[in-house]
Amino acid sequence: MSNIVAIVGRPNVGKSTLFNRLIGSRKAIVNEESGVTRDRNYGKSEWNGKEFSVIDTGGYVSNSDDIFEEEINKQVLLAIEEADVILFMVDTEIGLTDLDQNFAKLLRNIQKPIYLVANKVDTSERIYDASEFYRLGINSDLFCISSANGFGTGELLDKITSHF
Ligand code: GDP
Ligand code: MG
Repeated sequence: MSNIVAIVGRPNVGKSTLFNRLIGSRKAIVNEESGVTRDRNYGKSEWNGKEFSVIDTGGYVSNSDDIFEEEINKQVLLAIEEADVILFMVDTEIGLTDLDQNFAKLLRNIQKPIYLVANKVDTSERIYDASEFYRLGINSDLFCISSANGFGTGELLDKITSHF
């Protein structure tokens, strides 16, 4: 496989919602509960005639002795390894959390295009809430999107497919 985009981030930020929007059919589980997606889900997407694959991952959880959480973390690392482009998703509704920071630490050593995606920007006012995520030190563009209503996803897709 080539042209692979991985969506990573802590549970409940909206990764599976974006995944479903990108692949246009229901393949991953979307649930109100955190950490429902236990492994990697794959789907195909296309934008402006460019085809690519999308990987949806379960949430990364650190400092845990839960065997299932360990398995989730392994799946996230595998997805990062496979990916050509990584979307690091955070949640403007909740704001910056310790888990986001842990995740950023992990991603800082990855030599691949990584885009910080601030999700749940359902209305443009919330764009201002997203600036706190610059503190994560992810040296890339910040995209404000709403996986739920599609706000900002066109610009993100333009950026993603510029690599393909
Ligand atoms: P995941 O755990 O990161 O895969 O997150 P999910 O895709 O399962 O979404 C977690 C919750 O956030 C669900 O209740 C979604 O409906 C909600 N959600 C996802 N994207 C958005 C969004 O853009 N705006 C709002 N308001 N809610 C969202
Ligand atoms: Mg999910």
